[in-house]
Amino acid sequence: MPTTLVWFRDDLRVADNPALSWAASRGEVTGLLIDDTSGPRPLGRAAAWWRDRSAAELSTKVPLIRKTGDPREIVPRLARELGAEVAWNRRYDAPELDAEVKSATGARTFPGFLLAEPWEINSGAGTPYRVFTPFYKALQQHLIAHPPQPTAAPTLPGGTPLAVPDSPVWANGLAQHNIPGEDAALARFHAFLEGLADGHGYDNNDLRPGATSRLSAHLRFGELSPGYVWAETAAFADEHPAAAPHAWAFLRQVAWREFAWHRFYHLPDLAVHNVRSQFDRFEWAWSGNAAPWKHAQAFADPAMEPDPEAAQHLSQLAQWQRGETGVPLVDAGMRELWETGTMHNRVRMVAGSWLTKNLGIHWRHGEEWFWDTLVDADAASNPFNWQWVAGSGDDAAPYFRVFNPLTQQEKFDPSGAYVSRWAPQALLPGYPEPMVDIKASRKTALLAYDDIKNDK
Ligand SMILES: Cc1cc2nc3c(=O)[nH]c(=O)nc-3n(C[C@H](O)[C@H](O)[C@H](O)COP(=O)(O)OP(=O)(O)OC[C@H]3O[C@@H](n4cnc5c(N)ncnc54)[C@H](O)[C@@H]3O)c2cc1C
Repeated sequence: MPTTLVWFRDDLRVADNPALSWAASRGEVTGLLIDDTSGPRPLGRAAAWWRDRSAAELSTKVPLIRKTGDPREIVPRLARELGAEVAWNRRYDAPELDAEVKSATGARTFPGFLLAEPWEINSGAGTPYRVFTPFYKALQQHLIAHPPQPTAAPTLPGGTPLAVPDSPVWANGLAQHNIPGEDAALARFHAFLEGLADGHGYDNNDLRPGATSRLSAHLRFGELSPGYVWAETAAFADEHPAAAPHAWAFLRQVAWREFAWHRFYHLPDLAVHNVRSQFDRFEWAWSGNAAPWKHAQAFADPAMEPDPEAAQHLSQLAQWQRGETGVPLVDAGMRELWETGTMHNRVRMVAGSWLTKNLGIHWRHGEEWFWDTLVDADAASNPFNWQWVAGSGDDAAPYFRVFNPLTQQEKFDPSGAYVSRWAPQALLPGYPEPMVDIKASRKTALLAYDDIKNDK
C-alpha cells in the first residue's frame, strides 16, 4: 500500500483536512510534526503551549512522528526512509522554505487554512485589496461561486499519544482557561451556534464572557477549518432567521482573519515594517531588541536605531506588560492576557492604543509581547491588527484616533464586571493614577500624527 507522509503545521485536525483525506484515500498515513529550528518566526511561548497539547490530541487520531530541526532536511529524509509521497496543507508564512521542500520531495499541496487562497481575491484591476469592505464583498462573491464543501474525517488507525511537555508554572492559568485540540474546538463551535439559536447573540463589543466565539486559537492552529465554520454557520443562519444577523456578524469577523492573511501574503514583512512608509519617520520609542524570546536577534531590523531614552521606555513597556499602567481597562486586559493567553478584541485595541499613542512606544514592542503571550498569535493577524491600532497599517482610518480608555470603559464595561474580574484592585480607592496624564499624552500623540499627516 502506498504510504503518504503528511506534514502537519497549522492544520491540527482530522476533519475537513484535504491533505490528510488525500493521503488516507491512497493508503497508509504517517503524520509529521516538526519543531522548526530554521524557518519562520518561532512560536511564542503561549502558542507553543497550545500547539503541544493540540498535537498530542491529534496523535491519538493519526500516527504522528515529532522531529526537531530543519524541515528541508527532515522531510526529504523521512520520505526516503518510508518510501512515501509527501503532502501538506498550505500555509503562507514560510513560502521559500515550503518551495524548497516541495521541490525536493514533489509534495502534493492543498488549501485548507483559509476560505480562499490569498491570490484568488483581487480587485477589478487585479491588485490586492487594501480596504476590508470591498475585500469582504469579493470574498463573499468567491464563496458563492465556490462554496466550501467540508469533508468528514477519514478512517485512520490512531497512534501512540505524543508526550506533552510539563506545563511551566506561568502556564497554570492557560490550562485553567483553555482546552486545545480539535475535539474542544468542535464542541466550542457547536456550543456557540446553540447559544445563538437560544438567543444569546454575538457582539464583539460586549466584554461579557460568551459574547464572542472564543475560537481564535482553534482557528489559528487549524483545529477547525474556516471552510467548515463558514458552511455550518451560513447553513445555521438559513435555518434560524432570528439569529441570522448574529451569525453573519460572526462570519464577518472570520473574514477579518482572511483579510489579515491576504494583506500578509502581499506584505510578508508586515511584522517588521510599517505598511504606510510615512510612519518610518514617526518618533515612536524603540528600544531595539526587547523581545522576550531567544530568537529575537534574528528578527531585529538593523535599520531601526534604538531610542536613546530606551531605559525609560523599557520600564514603561514593562508596566504595560504587567498590567500596572494605572488605567483600569488596560490593566484588566493585560492581566486577562497573562492569566488566560487571550484578551477581548475591544480591550486589545484599547491596550494597543495606550501603548502606541499615549506612551508613544513602537507598535512592534506590543506585537512582540502579544506574539509571546497570546495563544492565538499568528503571523498575519497579530502584526496586521497592531498596525491597524497604531495607524501605520492599511485601512487604519482614522489613523489618528486615540482611544480614551476611561470613556471606553464607561461605554463597554458599564457595570465594571470586566475590570472587576481581571483587575479588581483597580476599582478600590488608592489604586495608582494613570502612569501618564491621559489628556496631555493624547495631545502629544495628536501633534505627532499631525506632523506626518501630509507626508507621502
Ligand atoms: C492588537 C491586536 C492583536 C491581535 N492579534 C491577533 C492574533 O494574533 N491572532 C488572532 O487570531 N486575532 C488577533 N486579534 C484579533 C482579535 O482580537 C481576536 O481574533 C479575537 O479577540 C478572538 O476572539 P474570538 O475568537 O472570541 O473572536 P470572535 O469575535 O468570535 O471572531 C471570530 C473569529 O474571527 C477572527 N477575528 C476576529 N476579529 C479579528 C481581527 N480583528 N483580525 C483577525 N481575525 C479576527 C478570529 O479568528 C476569531 O476567532 C488581534 C487584535 C488586536 C487589536
